[in-house]
Amino acid sequence: MEYLGQYKAVYKAKAGCEDILSKAQDGGIVTAMFAYALETGIIDGAIVAGPGEEAYKPEPMIATTVDELLAARGTKYSISPNMALIKEATRSYGLDKIGIVGTPCQIQAVRKAQLYPIGMRDVPDKIALALGIFCMENFPYQGLYQMVEDHCATKIDNVTKMDIGKGKFSVYTERGVNAQIPLKVTHKYEQPGCHVCLDYVANLADISTGSVGTPDGWSTVFVRSAAGEAAFNKAVDAGWIIAESMDGVKPGLELVTKLATEKITKNQKYIEHRAHAEHEALKPLRNPYI
Ligand SMILES: Cc1cc2nc3c(=O)[nH]c(=O)nc-3n(C[C@H](O)[C@H](O)[C@H](O)COP(=O)(O)OP(=O)(O)OC[C@H]3O[C@@H](n4cnc5c(N)ncnc54)[C@H](O)[C@@H]3O)c2cc1C
Ligand code: SF4
Repeated sequence: MEYLGQYKAVYKAKAGCEDILSKAQDGGIVTAMFAYALETGIIDGAIVAGPGEEAYKPEPMIATTVDELLAARGTKYSISPNMALIKEATRSYGLDKIGIVGTPCQIQAVRKAQLYPIGMRDVPDKIALALGIFCMENFPYQGLYQMVEDHCATKIDNVTKMDIGKGKFSVYTERGVNAQIPLKVTHKYEQPGCHVCLDYVANLADISTGSVGTPDGWSTVFVRSAAGEAAFNKAVDAGWIIAESMDGVKPGLELVTKLATEKITKNQKYIEHRAHAEHEALKPLRNPYI
């Protein structure tokens, strides 16, 4: 089993521009890559998880300006169906070179639409840059709301950042960390579909990024495809991204590999468990991978 997918290079990296970093989740790689790609014509728009009407309830949006990309910074730990806009991007938005960011499952959807374009005319050739973000699990909005308002006793409207790391879910307000709860409290709110997911680091993206492995304010970045490599190297040369070697970085790839292995092993077991009915009157559950 390939836990980290195929990649050409891996870096510790961050955006070169303070404006992007100020409200980015980690190293601002997603925003910096798309902003550079927009400015240089690699893409003419990007599907991102926009801010939406309710706090931390993401709303898929097509960003065609750097300001719109900046407005989408930061992780919303809830489902943002970014693929829902992919066809529309080629139609009413008239995009020819589409950027899209998504969790590993969303990048799988992009690749599947490219290879098996069922009802997806024009889409396969118009995907220019697919950025994947690492993902252990996601939460339906109501679950996220309860995690913040009930368990963390914090008004979601006052939250300036949320993150998951070191075994804790943390919410920050303007004053700093406001509350932290152990992940064992959040497990029951996880989206059940995430328990059959076998991809942690967006193996099918052009470039994947996440926080795990590198110090705060930096990102771990896997450059995977030829398109990803070309765009990333140009963004580094132009100063939009600062990239350093992962050699000697702590906790580094060791921790990324450990978490990927844990996720995939656990979910693989669950898929096998579903294949056997627990009671003779029940049918085994469908396995989407066969
Ligand atoms: C549900 C979820 C679980 C995650 N789990 C992990 C993890 O286990 N380990 C880890 O290292 N990293 C995880 N991440 C990724 C991490 O939180 C950051 O998104 C990533 O490091 C990018 O940071 P950045 O500073 O480069 O992005 P920024 O420049 O801040 O931009 C963030 C981009 O992410 C997009 N985005 C925000 N929320 C969503 C969403 N719900 N769905 C799709 N796109 C979204 C926005 O559109 C924006 O373009 C997770 C992200 C999500 C959404
Ligand atoms: S755990 Fe998998 S299925 Fe769930 S949101 Fe993340 S990538 Fe998608």
